[in-house]
Amino acid sequence: MFEGPVQDLIDEFSRLPGVGPKSAQRIAFHLLQVEDDDIERLMAALGAVKGGVAFCRICCNISRDAVCRICADGGRDRATICVVEEPKDIQVIERTGEYNGRYHVLGGALDPLNGVGPKNLTIATLLQRIGGVLPDRELADSTAEEPLFDTAPEITEVILATDPNTEGEATASYLSRLLKDFPGLTVSRLASGMPLGGDLEFVDELTLSRALAGRLTL
Ligand SMILES: [Zn+2]
Repeated sequence: MFEGPVQDLIDEFSRLPGVGPKSAQRIAFHLLQVEDDDIERLMAALGAVKGGVAFCRICCNISRDAVCRICADGGRDRATICVVEEPKDIQVIERTGEYNGRYHVLGGALDPLNGVGPKNLTIATLLQRIGGVLPDRELADSTAEEPLFDTAPEITEVILATDPNTEGEATASYLSRLLKDFPGLTVSRLASGMPLGGDLEFVDELTLSRALAGRLTL
């Protein structure tokens, strides 16, 4: 234990995901030695993350503008939506180079034991993107802001790319049930080759490429 601000800093860093007590201590002592300019930049970045982060009004990805870079890209296939849990999953799929459609970020996965239900995810926004209607009235609450839709793109395929673990699978089967009644819509799930019980973030690109290419219709 150290005294004063240094220990406070170590305590704060220790609370971050993936940072153990030793790493927290190393970062804290590193910061004691860096230039004032570096500290200013770090503080500015920390301040901006709370006030400045916006979400794309089409796909709910983290975005600097009202519509994210991917949704604004006219060269992408607007008929296909790949549904992921977190914004970081988009980067993983983008790295495969196999996918040219748009995305939808759920903001997590269904996890009833920890109090995460359909209303806590952006499922209502997804349904609106696809069909313009809300089949389930209780889902209506999950639309935080009025989403901005571009001139009615017709969605013909939804790829469910939630994590291959218990919550991700439960979320995929919940969504496939909701989506099966939309006329002319193909719903698929990332196929074999995915390690079970894993996290999409840690799947290697080759495995993910194969899984995308061999996705199954549900
Ligand atoms: Zn977007």
